[in-house]
Amino acid sequence: MRKKVIAGNWKMNMLIEEGIKLAKDIKDNNESNNKDVEIILCPPSTLLKPIGDVIKDSDIKLGAQNVHFEDDGAYTGEISTNMLDDLGVDYVIIGHSERRQYFKETDEIVNKKIKKVLKSGMKAIFCLGESLEQRESDITFDIIKSQVIKGLKDINASDIENIIIAYEPIWAIGTGKTATDQEANEVISFIRSILKELYSDKVSESAIIQYGGSVKPDNANSLLNQSDIDGALVGGASLKANDFLGIINYNK
Ligand code: PEP
Repeated sequence: MRKKVIAGNWKMNMLIEEGIKLAKDIKDNNESNNKDVEIILCPPSTLLKPIGDVIKDSDIKLGAQNVHFEDDGAYTGEISTNMLDDLGVDYVIIGHSERRQYFKETDEIVNKKIKKVLKSGMKAIFCLGESLEQRESDITFDIIKSQVIKGLKDINASDIENIIIAYEPIWAIGTGKTATDQEANEVISFIRSILKELYSDKVSESAIIQYGGSVKPDNANSLLNQSDIDGALVGGASLKANDFLGIINYNK
């Protein structure tokens, strides 16, 4: 039985005071109490320390939105895995479509970053997904397959338990357009079939694969009750405590 994992990606939003308030509101009102749902908050790097302090006595996990693949050195503006680890970070989002699109992150860079995160003892949230153009050209499955294979290159079966895969169709991110339950489930089940080919039945069945793209309290229940969807990576709706709590409590 796979658990559900719901992660909030705050992107480049929130100053210290409002971020602390949001994290406190989520922590104090979290009815699901994390017995069956794991919650991850991914604030911008400037807030990792204060948000980490708010959630440190709870089951809520701390996530970063990016990391560099080198250990240290002359990489102005970058953050290393050691720096994140030092702040108590549990997860790092890798390969978000906004990083791929605006910062030219390739599948090869994504693969290097995932490997670096795993080596440092943290877990990765590995994002992938097709653009609208690719979906309309009927190449969604080719794109997804290529992203999975390249992103997981040289990663062992035993490491897959430290990776959450987030299927995020680009056309559904921040647009208010959600993939239908069937569309999301179909691609996620296809990702499982690739994991089966690359690794084994066991890896494919136990891998945690989230859906992301305009998840809101009113569509979370049907999406998260699909057979292959193990949770959600949430952008916009993670910035309001009530919306995020509504998603966490999708089954209530
Ligand atoms: C995201 O950025 O990962 C995301 C899914 O955003 P939104 O929920 O706003 O579509």
